[in-house]
Amino acid sequence: MSKVVKFGGSSLANAEQFRKVADIIRADKSRRYVVPSAPGKRFRGDTKVTDMLYECYGIAEEGGDFKESLEKIRARYQEILDGLGMTLSLEQEFAAIEKNFRKKAGRDYAASRGEYLNGIILASYLKYEFIDAAEVIFFADQDGTWDAERTRKVLAERLKSCKNAVIPGFYGSLPDGRVKTFSRGGSDITGSIVAQAAGVDVYENWTDVSGFLIADPRIIKNPKGIEVITYRELRELSYMGATVLHEDAIFPVRQEGIPINIRNTNAPEDEGTWIVGSTCQKSKYVITGIAGKKGFCSVSVEKDMMNSEIGFGRKVLSAFEEQGISFEHMPSGIDTLTVFVHQDEFMDKEQKVVAGIHRMVRPDTIEIESDLALIAVVGRGMKSTRGTAGRIFSALAHSNVNVKMIDQGSSELNIIIGVENADFENAIRAIYDIFVLTAI
Ligand code: ASP
Repeated sequence: MSKVVKFGGSSLANAEQFRKVADIIRADKSRRYVVPSAPGKRFRGDTKVTDMLYECYGIAEEGGDFKESLEKIRARYQEILDGLGMTLSLEQEFAAIEKNFRKKAGRDYAASRGEYLNGIILASYLKYEFIDAAEVIFFADQDGTWDAERTRKVLAERLKSCKNAVIPGFYGSLPDGRVKTFSRGGSDITGSIVAQAAGVDVYENWTDVSGFLIADPRIIKNPKGIEVITYRELRELSYMGATVLHEDAIFPVRQEGIPINIRNTNAPEDEGTWIVGSTCQKSKYVITGIAGKKGFCSVSVEKDMMNSEIGFGRKVLSAFEEQGISFEHMPSGIDTLTVFVHQDEFMDKEQKVVAGIHRMVRPDTIEIESDLALIAVVGRGMKSTRGTAGRIFSALAHSNVNVKMIDQGSSELNIIIGVENADFENAIRAIYDIFVLTAI
């Protein structure tokens, strides 16, 4: 058994957290490769080192005096070293950073130093080998396309020769050697890439919550946690946002069938959430999770005999495509078709889209409705459980929620419900209550 363990910023924000991390790693010999983030917030209102680096580099880029700003960053690391009683000196590292900032080495280089320095400290504290991510993780171009093939080859080869290593998260290098980062929160992706290349059995992702919750705790008080979720279910719940795990982190491990275990550094005894390819394990409550988002618009197009007009749907969608708008859902009837889009993306281009639809399909009417919310009710258990939809809609009716749209994916993995923004919270509470509370 071998594992890759990734620790997020709050897990490595200060010396106390570093100690917890080291205890976790030492408690299980199979935790062979460690991917750290940069130090995150130590308390509410604190600043992440990554943000401090962006700010510091911003000053450098404008030719300003960034010494004081860099000093504050150095102090964050010194606080960790002192708290751990380590004598490791980062003087040379900071001299190199200062020099490279003056040379305007780039924003990505600047941001990457957060995990780079944290990796050096953690490797030294654990007595593990340090592998600079720039030497083993590669991007194909400036747009950030990850070079999977080259990375895999070089990284797998490099890991073969070492039993334990620390590989900083978030960055890699471009073909010309310059440092490039993933998008924010990208250390999760690094962890997944390392897990794939090392061919480990589990990718443990340690953060400050005990995994995913069935529903948003800002809406539901103390929601139950999700024990097991499939990759596909997680994708369907993407309205949850990427607060726990970066969206792109599932792809490298998914290819290899490596499960991700989300764990809590501050409560290591909790089992957390398992994200798996497939499972015969039924979810406890028929539904695995509920997630939703406000701020959608619906554009309903009506035309007699629409259903027999070849290319109708494509033409309507091309009016959105022309304006660079992606659509979220597209339920349809015999002579109607409705396209759901994000209101903020759509607002400024509304008239252009409407004109485009008129031009392309000559509809009888076009109706637009705004301030809608979409709720995804997701569960692999739905397929084998009769009456799921019935329960959802009777619960919503009891709570006086008017359902404006229903869309069930043909995989029977999810049911998407459209309601007015104002009914959003009520609807989520009603669905949670009927499936989770009354099931206990
Ligand atoms: N430190 C980076 C960020 O704050 C990457 C990460 O933590 O995953 O976004």
